Amino acid sequence: MHRILFDEETDFMLDSISDHKDRARGKNPMNQDYTTRVNKKREAFGVNPLGNSGYAQDNTSFEFCEEVVRQSKNYQELLELKRRNAKQTVFVDMDNVLVNFQSGIDRISEEDKVKYEGHLDDVPGIFSLMEPNEGAIEGYRWLCEHFDTYILSTAPWDNPTAWTDKLYWVKKHLPDAAYKRLILSHHKNLAKGDFLIDDRTANGAGNFTGKHIHFAAEGKGFLDWKAVISYMKNLAH
Ligand SMILES: [Mg+2]
Repeated sequence: MHRILFDEETDFMLDSISDHKDRARGKNPMNQDYTTRVNKKREAFGVNPLGNSGYAQDNTSFEFCEEVVRQSKNYQELLELKRRNAKQTVFVDMDNVLVNFQSGIDRISEEDKVKYEGHLDDVPGIFSLMEPNEGAIEGYRWLCEHFDTYILSTAPWDNPTAWTDKLYWVKKHLPDAAYKRLILSHHKNLAKGDFLIDDRTANGAGNFTGKHIHFAAEGKGFLDWKAVISYMKNLAH
C-alpha cells in the first residue's frame, strides 16, 4: 500500500549520479511540478511534505498506511482471532445435521404417528430414539480439533422431554467433545461466531451473522458431512 500511495519516497532509487550528488548537496532533483503535486497529496493525507533533498523527512507516511490497515475490517477480525487463540467458532445444528431425525420417527408407535401428525417433534421421548447422521460424529470430532466448536440446536417449546433428550443424546454420542458445549435456543442469530452448520433457516439460523453452511440443501454444495469437512479443511487452523 505504501509503495502505491507514496511512490515518491522511492524515487531516489532511480537517481542518476548527478541526481545523487544534488541530493547530497540538499537539492531536490525531482521535477518541481511533480514535487508540488505529491506534497499536496501528502498534505491531504496528513503526511509531512518531502524534505529539501526530496527524501521523506519522517515516518508519517508509514503511520498513515498503518492506520488505514488498522481501520479495516479484516485487520479487526484478525486481532479478534488472535485474542481467541486464533481458532474460529463453529456452531453445529442437531436435527438433520448431527442427528438422523427420520431414525427417531421410524421407532415411534403408529399411534403416536397419527396423534402427532404434522408435529412429530412433539412426540415425548422421540429425540432419545434418534441415531447420528452418517459421518456426523467423526465430522464433529474433526471440527473440534481445528475450530472452537459448539452444538446449537432448538428444542420444541411444547415438548419438554426434548430438552432433556437432546442433552442425553449429546452425552451418549459426544460425551467428551461436546462437554458443556450444548446451546439450546430459538434465537440462533444471537450466537456470535464464524460458521453455523444448519439444514434450515428457521429459529434465527437464516440471520446468523457469520457464514451459514446450509447443510443438505439443494444447490448449496454441502449435501453431506464429507462435503462440509472438505470445505472446512481450507479454513482450518
Ligand atoms: Mg436442523
